[in-house]
Parts: sequence; C-alpha cells; structure tokens
Amino acid sequence: MDKFTGKGVYGAIAIGKISVFNRQEASVRRIHIKDTEAEIKRLEKAKARSSEQLQQIYNKALKEVGETNAQIFEIHMMMIEDEDYNESIINIIETQMVNAEYAVAVTSDNFASMFASMDDTYMQVRAADVKDISNRIINNFAAVSNENNSIDEKVVICADDLAPSETVSLDKNKVLAFVTANGSVNSHTAILARNMNIPAVIGVGDKFLEKIKDGQTVIVDGFSGEVFLDPDEDTLNAMNKKQSEDSEKKKLLMELKGKENVTLDGTKIEIYANIGGVDNIGAVLFNDAGGIGLFRSEFLYLENSDYPTEEQQFTAYKKVLESMAGKKVIIRTMDIGADKQVDYFNLGKEENPALGFRAIRICLSRPEIFKTQMRALYRASVYGNLGIMFPMITSVSEVEKIKAICEEVKHELRSDNIEYSSSIEIGIMIETPAAAIISDKLAPMVDFFSVGTNDLIQYTLACDRQNPNLENICDTHHEAVLRLIAISAENAHRHGAWIGICGELAADTSLTETFLRMGIDELSVSPGFVLKVRNEVRNIDLS
Ligand code: PEP
Ligand code: MG
Repeated sequence: MDKFTGKGVYGAIAIGKISVFNRQEASVRRIHIKDTEAEIKRLEKAKARSSEQLQQIYNKALKEVGETNAQIFEIHMMMIEDEDYNESIINIIETQMVNAEYAVAVTSDNFASMFASMDDTYMQVRAADVKDISNRIINNFAAVSNENNSIDEKVVICADDLAPSETVSLDKNKVLAFVTANGSVNSHTAILARNMNIPAVIGVGDKFLEKIKDGQTVIVDGFSGEVFLDPDEDTLNAMNKKQSEDSEKKKLLMELKGKENVTLDGTKIEIYANIGGVDNIGAVLFNDAGGIGLFRSEFLYLENSDYPTEEQQFTAYKKVLESMAGKKVIIRTMDIGADKQVDYFNLGKEENPALGFRAIRICLSRPEIFKTQMRALYRASVYGNLGIMFPMITSVSEVEKIKAICEEVKHELRSDNIEYSSSIEIGIMIETPAAAIISDKLAPMVDFFSVGTNDLIQYTLACDRQNPNLENICDTHHEAVLRLIAISAENAHRHGAWIGICGELAADTSLTETFLRMGIDELSVSPGFVLKVRNEVRNIDLS
C-alpha cells in the first residue's frame, strides 16, 4: 500500500478503481510503437470523431451563415478522407513504427508546405486548412483514449491536473472521485467536484503519477486529503467504516429537508445552490435548495467545440428554469477567460490572465457573442423565475453598457414577436474590490448583488487563486474581505437591492453568523452543502 496526502475539496470517501486521465500535449511527441495495426485503428477512431464534429459544425453553419460560408467545413470533411493525405500518415506509422499523432503532424507539415509553395492562391489557402484538420485529428486522439478508459463501473480519475474544460468533458455518471497531483483548492476543477458532490483530493504531488496505473484499487478520503493506493485490509476496513459513518451523518442532515432556513430568533435567509450545468439539477432538488444562486453558464461554452448557438443555450436555460418550477434561478452570463479557456474564443496568451480579458470584458467588446446569450436568456425567462447576473464588474459604465444591450435585445425580441418575462431580476457580481467600494453607485442600478468571494479574495489579497503555494498564506477570513462584503451589504440595502454570496465562502459555516449579522439575504453553495448550512443557520441565535 502507498499513501499520498493532498487537500480534500469535497468531504466524502470513495473506494474504486483508477482511470488515468490521458491528455494530448500541445506539442506532439514522437513515440516508438510496436503494434502498427492498433495505431492505425486509433487513427481511424480519431478521424471518425473529427468528421462527426465537422458534420455538426457544417450543419450549424449552414443554418446560421448560409451555404457559401458553410462550404469550407465540407471541404475539411473531404480532406480528412483524402487518399494521398491518409497514405502518407499510414506510411509514416508503418515504416517508422511511430505513434499516429506524430504521423499526422509530420504529414500536416509536409502537405502545408507543399500547398503554400504553389502558385495558385486557392491551393495556397489549403495550407491552413490541412493544418486545421490535422490539429483537429490530433486533439481527438486524447478524447478517444479517454473514451477507451471509461469502463462501465464508476472510476477514480487521476491526473496531473485538470483544466475546467477537461473536467466538464468527463462523463459525470462514471466518475467516482478525482485525484490530481497538482492544482489548487480554489480552482474551478475543485469547485466542479464540489458541485458534483464527489470526493476529490488535489495536490498529492508528482510521485503519485509514477505509481498509478489503470484498474488499480484506490481509496480517496476527501475529508483528510489522504489517498491510499492498493490499500491493505485494515485500511480498507477503517475506510469502509468511515464511509458508513459519513453516510449516517448525511442521512441525519436529510431530516432538514423541507425545513426553513431560520435562526433561533426568527431571522430568515435563503439558501440556494451553485451549478455548472443542467446535470447538477438533480443534486439541487435532492438537497432541497431554495433556488439556484449561480449557474456558471460558461460551462456550456467549455463543453462545446464552437460557440453554443442561441437555440442550444435556450434549451439549457429553459430546462433549468422548468426543473426549478418557479423557484429563483440566477444565471450568470459567461465568465470565460483566466483559467476557463476556450480555444475557439482565440483569446491569445496573456501574462496575467486573471487580470486580463475575461468575462464581461469579452462580452462588451464582442457584443454579438453576448447578445446571443442574452437573447437565449430572455427567451427562456417565460419558463420560470429568472435572474441574470454579470461577472467581473468594476465600473458604473460597464453596467450602463450592459443595460443598454439588454434594452436592445428586448427591443429585437419584441419586433420578432417573441415573448420574455417582465419580472427578470438583474444583478451583478461583487468580486472585485472596485465593485465593493463603489457599491453605493452600483446598487441603484440593479436588483441584487452576489458576492463572488473566490475572486474577491484573490483580488483583495493579491493571492492568485490558482497558486497552491498561497493556500496557507491567503487568509480567506481577512478583515479586508469581510469589510468589503459588509460595505456592499449596507449599500445594497440602502438602495433597495438584496445581496447574496455565491463564492465558496458562503459554505464556510464558521462565517454563517457573521454573514447573517451583516444582513446577507442569500447564501448560494454547492448542492451538497445546502443542508449543512441550513443546520448551522437553525442553530444560530442573533438576539
Ligand atoms: C467567485 O469568484 O466567487 C465566483 C463565484 O465566481 P467563479 O468562482 O466562477 O470565478
Ligand atoms: Mg468569479
């Protein structure tokens, strides 16, 4: 047995088999292989997946931008099947006994230089196309490998680290737990694990990666942050016992379902849940959340290989609103950027992405993307009780611009005779110190504030939330952060707005009383924490 220790990000225990997460590195390595037939099969699968994706993109483009513009994707589909291109790849695999990724990359370079050197401009343009389809095939090798790993039983995903886009693309019904060698507890991957109610341990160190293999038995203790590889019988028994005790405790909390979130002296608060997608709604309903306080809509973008269409978004928002049957659903407009990178946004490399071009900054400078999302939201609003909120606000002028776009979208919908609700609440996230400090000016412009403590902490204390070395230094209860929340609460109430907290601090029960005393109206937490926070609230006496 080997034991590793990291940080637990969701308190639960999992016992199961390992599935090592495969990632396609950006630069393709040349690897010597023995079984060329197996390699060619991998190539076929990656090609098939690429063709499927291109067909989808073609269909979408045909609808949205017309046949002439969509044609390029038809050409790409034909290029994938081009005889010379395929012969070259297979020839490299067979004669050099190398991996298929490498063979595709070499073929891509050869063909691209050949096209680029031609006189005919039409053929010159094909150089970029051959690179594009080759990159698509190369990226799909990883997806195919991860598919192959997915055994029928649920598995413990082990990786060096997981990006949010990688985490969302895993089949959630097959994930028992996560273990990563690196990464930080405040990352979106950790947040996703919490939203999914699955045990996760982060930062167990690189040695772990040398020891693991697919199918190995592992115990993940999300409470202590311990991970046991090939556990001995004593450890297995002890962990089985701990697991049953935990489920007993969770059962006890279940008795709080249907009960009010009210303190001993009668103060009430709303407890809502955070979700990353439609898949999390089951957990929201199971844990009896009063609403959804944060739907991180950017995961719809991260799951997709191209901009999600208005229709795709509308379907997702409608489903969430209908499932919540009239309870409040707050959908945050997309917060892409920083650690949530999506290739097709072509954001370019930034020195300090957390301080860079992200969230509302992208939306306001690329209004076509923003308006597609807003149209989908307004259209879905008739199916429930919608609130829309905007991330990363730092100024009054941003809110003015947002409101002007909301008016434009409403005007367009009216001209198209499309219905939308007249009672949508509009809110902003308070997640920059600037927003908290000018909250007296922002409050009259909106219906509500929602404090994003994850970012508010990183920006106030100058502590990168992605950097695990800062976890012990960064004081999440720092007086500066609490004062900024208190100032925002005071200003919200003074101007008739309500205020919630949707960052991870909302689930920190050692602060529940502090938040109640500040007059916070709503706490939005991962679904698995709703009843824990309710329990805390019901034991507080503010009198
Ligand atoms: C936050 O910053 O607290 C927040 C809720 O948003 P995110 O974690 O998605 O940045
Ligand atoms: Mg944030």
